Amino acid sequence: MKNSTVIYPGSFDPITYGHLDIIKRAAAMFDKLIVVVMTNSKKSCSFTPEERREMILKSVKDLPNVEVDFYDGLLAEYAKIKNASAIIKGLRAMSDFEYEFQMALTNKKLNPEVETLFLTTSTQYMYLSSSMVKQIVSMNGDISDFVPKEIHEDIVERLGGQG
Ligand code: ADP
Repeated sequence: MKNSTVIYPGSFDPITYGHLDIIKRAAAMFDKLIVVVMTNSKKSCSFTPEERREMILKSVKDLPNVEVDFYDGLLAEYAKIKNASAIIKGLRAMSDFEYEFQMALTNKKLNPEVETLFLTTSTQYMYLSSSMVKQIVSMNGDISDFVPKEIHEDIVERLGGQG
C-alpha cells in the first residue's frame, strides 16, 4: 500500500515478543504503524493505559515509523480519525479466529474504508500471551524470553512474586 497508515490495536498488558514481532513485520510493510492501546476492553488489566503505552514506547524506540497511542472509543472511529487504511491483527491459533473474524466484519460494517489484515504468528511465539507472562512472573518464573528487555524490570517490580 502506498502512503499508508495502519493501526495495530490491543490491550498490550504488557507487550510481549509476540506483539513486537507483529509490530516489526507490519512496520516493514507500511509507511506508518500506530500501535494503539485500547482502553475500552472488558478485560481487567494489570497496568494502566499510560503504563502500557510507556512499555510499548520503550520496546519500539528503534523503529522510526512506529507511533504509540491510546484510545477509549470504537476502533472503527479511531481508524477514521487517523485516516488508516488497515487494522493489523496477529493470529496465534484457531482459537483466536472466530472472535477476530467477528471483530473484522463488525469494523468493516462500521467503517467500510478500513480493511483488517491478519499476520500469522511466528511459530516461536504461538503459545505466548500477556496473561501467560503475568502468570509466570507472579510465580517468580523467568520471563526474559517472552518480553523485551527494556521492560523486563517494570514487569517484575510490579507483578513479581504475587502468585
Ligand atoms: P492478548 O490476547 O495477549 O491479551 P492483545 O489483546 O494485547 O493480546 O492482542 C493484540 C493483538 O496481538 C491481537 O491481534 C492478538 O491476536 C495479537 N497477538 C497477541 N499475542 C500474539 C503472539 N504471540 N503472536 C502473534 N500475535 C499476537
